[in-house]
Amino acid sequence: MEVHEVPMPEIRKPGDVIVRVIKACVCGSDLWWFRGIGQRQHGSLTGHEALGVVERIGDDVHTLQEGDFVIVPFTHCCGECAACKAGFESNCFNAEPGGNAGYQAEYMRVYSADTSLVKVPADPHELSDETIASLLTVADVMCTGYHAATCARVQPGGTAVVFGDGGVGLCGVLSAKLQGAERIIAMSRYEDRQQVARAFGATDIVPERGDEAVSRVMELTDGIGADSVLECVGTEQSTLSALAVARPGGFIGRVGVPHTTNIDVNNLFWRNVTLSGGPASVTPYANGKNGLVAKILNGDINPGMIFTADFDLDHVQDAYEAMDERRAIKSMISIGAL
Ligand SMILES: [Zn+2]
Ligand SMILES: [Zn+2]
Repeated sequence: MEVHEVPMPEIRKPGDVIVRVIKACVCGSDLWWFRGIGQRQHGSLTGHEALGVVERIGDDVHTLQEGDFVIVPFTHCCGECAACKAGFESNCFNAEPGGNAGYQAEYMRVYSADTSLVKVPADPHELSDETIASLLTVADVMCTGYHAATCARVQPGGTAVVFGDGGVGLCGVLSAKLQGAERIIAMSRYEDRQQVARAFGATDIVPERGDEAVSRVMELTDGIGADSVLECVGTEQSTLSALAVARPGGFIGRVGVPHTTNIDVNNLFWRNVTLSGGPASVTPYANGKNGLVAKILNGDINPGMIFTADFDLDHVQDAYEAMDERRAIKSMISIGAL
């Protein structure tokens, strides 16, 4: 990772705003290309999760003002197309190729800002560091974990199994709890992550992987399997294990970016198991009276616990390395002052 001076982003369309970034972070999905497993163009701008203050607004921006405190989601929402109207803004038909590149920066451009940004209804100067960290998770991981639980149709009193103990997996545990799961089995082999999983509502921890993990979950569920399975990793092993532990008629919510080739889903047919999921949408989960932002501001949830290290922009390489080497669950990058 290298820090370069680049031209200041500009308002290009009337619906654009320029956000001055206060906090950004590194995502587990960034590690795929950081490790060289995924491809990324050399010299491209990075980051897709941020919190900031609106610095400038275009002529056709109506719900935001300069100075507003906002969450910048990894998704874009035009608010008008069939996908956005159906609540699937991550599939927006009017998304620009490349999206809002460069959240790990001092300033960034956001288009269709009225509908894409999540305005925080609070004075940021009065919020604790913990609350600010929690709001940052709404840009991606908390909504992605919540999407996994929603797609896995977690029901009150049900059993949920969560594959993945990174930011998304841990937020998946918290979301399963929020949606009423009584028993939550978290797959994790790292002490620090197990602790957060328990704090978020995990009742059982399974450190095994692969076939052993499957046997262990089947044992814990009396040979039945889980009502809901949250797949928050995306590797072949994790996906295959997730498919194997859903009970007959169960639901799998898949949000780990797939790094698999051939997954045979025919055996799901014989067990009446539903496989659902994909990239999450942020604004439908974040906004509203019972949305995730309200829950954070009320102190009901504290997903910001997943940030266990904080860096400045000059140490962005360290921020990635800390996650790559599992010294940090998730790295925050503190960029601007409020
Ligand atoms: Zn992300
Ligand atoms: Zn759209």
